[in-house]
Amino acid sequence: MKRIAIDMDDVMADTTVKIIDQINFLTNSSYTYDILMSSDNASKQAFYELYLKHNTFLWEPGFFTDIPVKKDAIEVIKELHNTYEIFIVSAATEFPNSLVEKLNWMQMHFPFITWKNIVFCGHKHMIQADYLIDDHEKNLTTFTGTPLLFTAPHNLHITAFERVSSWMDVKNRLL
Ligand SMILES: [Mg+2]
Repeated sequence: MKRIAIDMDDVMADTTVKIIDQINFLTNSSYTYDILMSSDNASKQAFYELYLKHNTFLWEPGFFTDIPVKKDAIEVIKELHNTYEIFIVSAATEFPNSLVEKLNWMQMHFPFITWKNIVFCGHKHMIQADYLIDDHEKNLTTFTGTPLLFTAPHNLHITAFERVSSWMDVKNRLL
């Protein structure tokens, strides 16, 4: 059985959507996901400058508890689960509060994936799998299997990896 390692933030979870909400609240702004996905580079740069200044909420209890699930993620991962060995691999130890919040989130939305198949780590370079679905170049560069870049606002410029832009894309690629 082939093994797929799946990242959580901005792959299974719409983490950027929650980050935008937090930044808008803290800075009285009105950024949207569509703006970050657009070619409006000035707005995007302004957003990421605000984000770097105001991102301590990532370390506060509760941030990871109620992040929305990405469209079609539950249905497609459930289908992949019949054909592949699935491991959820999240670089979560940077945010100690997130560990229990992420486990609870998984149990709430993906109860068919048990704690035995969830890996919380720092770096991901030791992960061995046939596929890694991730939104960050740094995780895909060191991966020894087939890397799949999941589209997110911060990786639109990257061309070095095969790209999947939605969970329907993942389904078409792997099923
Ligand atoms: Mg991620």
